[in-house]
Amino acid sequence: MELCFDVDKARNYKSHSQIARVLTEDWAVKNLFCISCNQSRLQAARDNTKVIDFICDKCSETYQLKSQSKTLGDKIVDAAYEPMIDSIKRNRTPNLFLLHYNSTNYCAENLLIVPRYFLTLSCIEARKPLSQNARRAGWIGCNIVLKEIPLDGKITIIKEREIISPESVRANYDRFRFLSEKKFDSRGWTADVLKVVRDLGKADFTLEELYAYDEQLQKLHPDNKHIRPKIRQQLQILRDKGIVEFKGSGTYRIV
Ligand SMILES: [Zn+2]
Repeated sequence: MELCFDVDKARNYKSHSQIARVLTEDWAVKNLFCISCNQSRLQAARDNTKVIDFICDKCSETYQLKSQSKTLGDKIVDAAYEPMIDSIKRNRTPNLFLLHYNSTNYCAENLLIVPRYFLTLSCIEARKPLSQNARRAGWIGCNIVLKEIPLDGKITIIKEREIISPESVRANYDRFRFLSEKKFDSRGWTADVLKVVRDLGKADFTLEELYAYDEQLQKLHPDNKHIRPKIRQQLQILRDKGIVEFKGSGTYRIV
């Protein structure tokens, strides 16, 4: 993987946004790899669909690239709200590459991938409708709230110009691949409980410590009347998949 973009590709462009688009797209097809299989390159999506930028021609996994010259913060601006919710409910969202590049030397600084199965209703936030004076008055966009996604759903590929091996990136993707077979609400619960486990910030934890988050989980799932049983159910799923271990008497450990 090369960190720096081929700036020659942008010599016929003047505007910053066009230059950035041309350079990041060119870099992406030369450097991004499939995280779901061993294919070393991705193809640019031919049909120019709004949400899918790249596709793996071996396993058909789909990808979207979002790039920005400022550091990746808590939120990523995405497209329209309702279609996003709809595609999450249908398990149709692509995997999301998030690229932070340096706009002075046009080199990649940081790159993450959010596996599509970690995009859940809990991490999508509606933005304010566009004002009456806007060309698309009333249109509602959305943000992807990265801090609502557990650590495991933000897989590092480049960290401050250091490149992580594809094998390690793919192993991290594989670990939670079981979520891709679940319906949106069920994988949403697993991700939310995993996030709470990760927020505790330690390897060993107790059920009581997780119960302290029941109000927070209730807000994310207002229709559910059985938050604590749901937490226990998700811990069993995480145990069955080898993510956490039961140590007995209400104590657990992250594997
Ligand atoms: Zn693939």
